[in-house]
Parts: sequence; structure tokens; C-alpha cells
Amino acid sequence: MKTPSNSWCILPWVHLFACEQGFLRPCCMALEDKDMINRDAKGEPYLVHDADGVKEGWNSDFMRNIRKQMLLGERPSACRRCFRDEDLGIRSYRQMSNELFEPYIDEVVAESSDDGFSSLDLLRSIDLRLGNLCNLRCRMCSPVSSKAMLNEWAHLHSISTTHPQLEHLQKLDWFSREDFWQIFEKYAKHIERLHFAGGEPLLINQMFDFLERIIETGQASKITLSYITNLTVLPKRIFDLWPKFKRVSLTTSIDGYGAVNSFIRYPSNWETLDKNLKKIDSQAEHLNCSDGLTFNLTVQAYNILRLDEFLEYAASSFQHFGRPKLSLLYYPEHFSVRILPAELKELAVSRLKSFTKRFADKWPSRWSGKQLDDLLSTIDGVIDYMMETDRSDLLPEFRRWTDHMDATRGQNLLTIVPEFSPFF
Ligand code: SF4
Repeated sequence: MKTPSNSWCILPWVHLFACEQGFLRPCCMALEDKDMINRDAKGEPYLVHDADGVKEGWNSDFMRNIRKQMLLGERPSACRRCFRDEDLGIRSYRQMSNELFEPYIDEVVAESSDDGFSSLDLLRSIDLRLGNLCNLRCRMCSPVSSKAMLNEWAHLHSISTTHPQLEHLQKLDWFSREDFWQIFEKYAKHIERLHFAGGEPLLINQMFDFLERIIETGQASKITLSYITNLTVLPKRIFDLWPKFKRVSLTTSIDGYGAVNSFIRYPSNWETLDKNLKKIDSQAEHLNCSDGLTFNLTVQAYNILRLDEFLEYAASSFQHFGRPKLSLLYYPEHFSVRILPAELKELAVSRLKSFTKRFADKWPSRWSGKQLDDLLSTIDGVIDYMMETDRSDLLPEFRRWTDHMDATRGQNLLTIVPEFSPFF
């Protein structure tokens, strides 16, 4: 694949991303630190739900600088996560995106100008995080993605629930306002990919109403729909709407097998989730998602010791699901795999190594080749990342958060992962 430089990524030219609060960023992987937000000259973030937010934010100084840096082969700071993954040998979102949008590369390069300007006519893909309405309180999450986390979060950060930022997150509702969907409709005219996450996107009725409008315009058969979902709900409307789109792809967020998942992704019910996964798998052809099913697992201190159990479940229980994507948790740092004491790190490594050895000839044939190579190299990358740095100094913070969440949720880490007992 011929790209203008080794740090070049197609997304800033063809892709629009809006986070839960409606801020525009180059993509979901781009950092959201204060100085990396796409803002106007007054320092106000451009918003996807403002009448001119997308038009102005698309060619802001921030976006043009990112494009200029990429054309010159520099690594933009906002894209640090991708380059960190690549340096660890993990396939980055940049690499996956360049491959996904390869047919557009020549056109984008031909249209590129040195000042970083890009026409909105090149827009082919939209990714919206539809606010922070979610039915779960995953341990590593925050009120930005699930407003149900507000009270725990406020307590653990020793701030009041009436703090202006928390009040703002409590009231986030742009994704359910009709005026937003009208503004948004005009940008959706030429797109070929439409991605929703949240919060939990399958809880948002307005998203389904919007799909109905796309179907009415006759565009649906040209659009690939995709979701990141916790799949704890399976609304009836998907069975009518999704088959009308060109293709549907579904990434299910799942952080372990059975009790480990229920522990991290509270208060999800494993039996319901397992049933929903199997229903989607068995109806994959009707739903247009037979080659678009996958899992995303956030690798963290809570699940690294049980990762082998999840991989076995994912490999053995389905006809269509592709290899799971393993995403390293970098934040909050006290949940990172790096905080584990040396003994537990060694145990995690030995379990993963003996699992991959034992499973060497049992991987599903649909994962063979690149999928399996990616999974195995990601496992190696996870191990390298964990072993590279000792952050066991964060164990007290890990315990503080775990104890508080265990108490408020009526859970107990030590019954789920008793290997932690000597350290509690
Ligand atoms: S390099 Fe990575 S973070 Fe930057 S825009 Fe591309 S995918 Fe997103």
C-alpha cells in the first residue's frame, strides 16, 4: 500500500468522529488531552451538534496541522496511541484504517494540499459516540461514557456530584434531540460507513429513527453500518432495519468469560449476554453481519489472569465471530496490567503461553492467516507491555478503587480472581 509517509493516516481526510460530548477529534483513538481538542480561536470546542460545527471544525488549525504533519512523516501528538501500539508490534488503528480505506488513498492523496486543507466532499465515514446513556458501569469506564458512573466516580475523585463538569455530563442529551439529527443528515449524504458507539448505542431510539430515514432515501444499500455495543440488549428493530443496509458489523465489548465479565461490566448478566451473542451469530446472514462480528476486550489487571478462558470461549462457541481485538488499557493507570506484582505477571504470562501452545491446532479455520497472526502478535505485545514497566506502586490505588466498587456493587474481587488474595 503506497501512502505519502510512514506516519500518514487516511482518517483525517475521510472520517468524522464525534465523542460522547459532541467534540470533534480525528478518530476514536486520538487523544483527548486538553491541548488536543479541536477548538476555535476562542478556545471553544467545535461541536457536532452545532449548526456549523462540522463545517468549521473540519479545516480548523488543529486538523490542518495534523494533516500537514502526516504528509511530512511526523507523528502528531494526538495520534500517540497508534504509534505506541505500532512500536509494540500491535496492529494499530491507523494501519487497520489505511487498509480499510485503501480504495480511496489515490483520490485523497491527489486532493491533498500542503496547507492541510481537505474538502468535506471526501467524507466517507462517520463515527458518533452517542452520549453517555448506558445501562452498565464498567469498572474502567467514566461518566463521560456512562452517566451511571457519576456517584462512584465523584466519590473516588473526592469531588461533589454537583461539580459543574459532572452536572454537564448528567444532562448530556444532544444525541436525542431532533435538531441534531437534522443537522447531521446533510453530512451523511455521501457516506459509505456509519459507525455508532456510546454510551450504549442500541438504547438510543433516535438512532433507529435515523436509520429508517436513510432507508427511505434509498441510501441504505450503499452504507456499511457498524456498532460497538455491550449487546446486553437486542432491540427488535435491528431485525427489520439492519438487513436493508449493505453490511453490518458489530464489535461486542466483553472483558472476560462468565463471572469475570459480569464483575468488570456490572451489572451485566452473563447468561443474557451469551444468549444474545448466540442469537446474533445464528442470524448473522439475515442481519448482514456474517463477516462483521467481533469482540473487543480491554486487557487490564482484572482480566489478564483469565484471558485464556475468554479466548477459548471466543474461539469455540461461534460460527461467525472473528478473532477478538485485544485493546490495552492505558487509563485509568491503576487498572493497567503493569500494576500487577511480579508473581501475578509471571502467572499471567505462563497461562497465556501455555494456552497458545495447547490451542495451537484448535484455532477456528475462519481466523487462520492474518487474523490469527494479528491475535498472536497482539498477545505478545500485551506481554511485552506488561513486563516492560513495574507500576506496582499503583496497587494501593487499585485496591482503593476495587474496595469502593466492590462495596457499592455487592461484589468481591477475591471470589472472582482469588489470585489477588495475598495483595489485599
Ligand atoms: S493515526 Fe491513529 S489516532 Fe491518528 S487519526 Fe489515524 S487512527 Fe486516529
